[in-house]
Amino acid sequence: MSDVRVRIAPSPTGNLHVGTARTALFNALFAKAGHGAFVMRIEDTDLERSKADYEQNIYDSLHALGLEWDEGPDVGGPYGPYKQSQRIEIYQEWADRLLKEGKAYYSYETEAELEAERERAKEENRSYRYQRPTYSPEQLAAYQADPSRKPSLRFKVPSHCPTLVLNDLIRGEISFDLSLMDDFVIVKSNGIASYNFAVVIDDMLMRISHVIRGEDHISNTPKQLLLYEALGVTPPAFAHVGMILAPDRSKLSKRHGATAVSEFIQQGYLPEAFCNFLALLGWSPQDGEEVGTLEHFGQQFTLSRISPSPAIFEADKLNWFNGLYIRQLPLPDLLERARPFLRDFDLSQYPEALLLTMLEAVREKITILGDLPEHVSYFFGQGVILDAALVGEVLMNDDARQVLEAFRDTFLSTADFSSPDALSTALKDFTNAMKPLKTKTVMWAIRTALTGRTQGADLGKTLYLLGADRIRFRVEEALTLTAGSLT
Ligand code: GLU
Repeated sequence: MSDVRVRIAPSPTGNLHVGTARTALFNALFAKAGHGAFVMRIEDTDLERSKADYEQNIYDSLHALGLEWDEGPDVGGPYGPYKQSQRIEIYQEWADRLLKEGKAYYSYETEAELEAERERAKEENRSYRYQRPTYSPEQLAAYQADPSRKPSLRFKVPSHCPTLVLNDLIRGEISFDLSLMDDFVIVKSNGIASYNFAVVIDDMLMRISHVIRGEDHISNTPKQLLLYEALGVTPPAFAHVGMILAPDRSKLSKRHGATAVSEFIQQGYLPEAFCNFLALLGWSPQDGEEVGTLEHFGQQFTLSRISPSPAIFEADKLNWFNGLYIRQLPLPDLLERARPFLRDFDLSQYPEALLLTMLEAVREKITILGDLPEHVSYFFGQGVILDAALVGEVLMNDDARQVLEAFRDTFLSTADFSSPDALSTALKDFTNAMKPLKTKTVMWAIRTALTGRTQGADLGKTLYLLGADRIRFRVEEALTLTAGSLT
């Protein structure tokens, strides 16, 4: 393994968001390309909002996408624990060190006092900045004796460098004006490290070489760089990836539909199709081949091919990938994945070989596995529901009646039902024999009577799956429905 060490650091305050999944994927690909380690760290210092279920959802969704980590809370590793809630004492030790070195100090203002200060600044039309306090010994003693005042530890932002420059590996040089930065909290009054402090201590101790994360974290970076400097440690390299936006260029949110990876999977997106789609949200492969596996992308992944611009989440493109992957999947594999989506049907009435034929017949038509019930429903049950309007449009005429009667009287007694191909051939002969009626008229009448729709799976396979008895039943029903209404 090389010195490349990257991490994904999700907060388990919700199900795995597509943005976090994309960040995880880029980190995993970068680790693969650099023969390095990919680390999972759970950032659960927000004890109220962090939930075990969300943590599980994050693991499950990432595993479903095919991502594995070399170190993490569930797999262990040399730099653990990998859950921030189990590292509170580690943060305290490092905080104490900064305190001892005079780089941090305790501040005693209550939240209410700070809020009043903020309000006053607002009223006076000036921007609020926390003023480093100078407590008199008496005041300090009084604060320390007051149990309602729980101090927080603040980092002393040095005044020697008013601007700071970050050389971001995706965005180039970014300058930060530090003149407006106030002394920020590194250990909160409840004794828990703040995000900016915990992340620096962890990245330092876990020897993270590259921090690849969303551009929403750029504003945190100067604080983190100052902490590295105070700790006397070389910071990791930073690479901030553009956000994922909805087509209306707003932040991707619930309003646009699903945002959690597990929701997409539940709808019937294949994880590998979703993963392929995610990889192209902001990154492009050198070889121009957009359809690829993690292995394939991992061999050529570089940060220089990540765009600094936001990526647009195009549902059409995702659907295109999913359709492609559905059509490429070996049929037995597709059947296993389809089963949960077909719970409402009694699949046991078909031997497995016929179920495979059914999927083969409909998979051209579906985008997600969730479309399956709608497309296979007419393969189940004896009869089929015939919509009155459709009957009126397609079946209520002499031509259609003639087709259905001939279909019942000649086709059913002569056709070779041994395979879908044999039935397709028989069907071709039948339409020829029905001339001068148009092929379309013949096919429409048969399809409508048998399936209740004008479009659907390949008709040869449909006939094969339905079998002669059910076909006869459905044709008779259609003829009964239309009987008497014609002259
Ligand atoms: N826990 C942070 C988040 O979920 C990630 C922090 C980081 O990558 O530095 O957004």
